[in-house]
Amino acid sequence: MACGHDPRRGILVRTLRFGVALFLRHIWVLTAPAAFLAVAVWLGVAYHSWSTVPLASLIMLHTAFGLLGSYVVHECGHFVGLGLCTHVSMVSVTSTPFRLSLNPAGQLTTRAALGVAVAGPLSAVLVGAGLWVLFPELGLGWWYLGHAAFLAPCFGDGRGGAQAAPPLATPA
Ligand SMILES: [Zn+2]
Repeated sequence: MACGHDPRRGILVRTLRFGVALFLRHIWVLTAPAAFLAVAVWLGVAYHSWSTVPLASLIMLHTAFGLLGSYVVHECGHFVGLGLCTHVSMVSVTSTPFRLSLNPAGQLTTRAALGVAVAGPLSAVLVGAGLWVLFPELGLGWWYLGHAAFLAPCFGDGRGGAQAAPPLATPA
């Protein structure tokens, strides 16, 4: 174990804390849906016209637990992946409103780098499959299943995974 530190200790609590912090940091994406929902409710209260409330609620649900939720699950997947690496002693997070970087302190083996790259999209896809099976009527699963696209080489995860993956055939 590198640095005498067990990165797996408390991984669940650290991941939950990371996920909640990430959700709150990007909660600004709910501004427009919240404003639309508020107007829809106001129309209902003021004019007894509640017809827009279901649509506004649906947009709020999909923005919060589809768009933002799938992003948080994806990043939590990377976070857990890094946390399980025995040669990573610490993970620092730098973030802007549009970009998040997880910076591991320590060394990643080629295999670990592949696992970390795949862990983000894979965790989102697994949650999406669960949502699709358990709550198909909500339509939220597609937000998560769509993260499989990040495994394509044109995205950072796919590129990182392809670089870390062992060659399919060794030259003679
Ligand atoms: Zn990713």
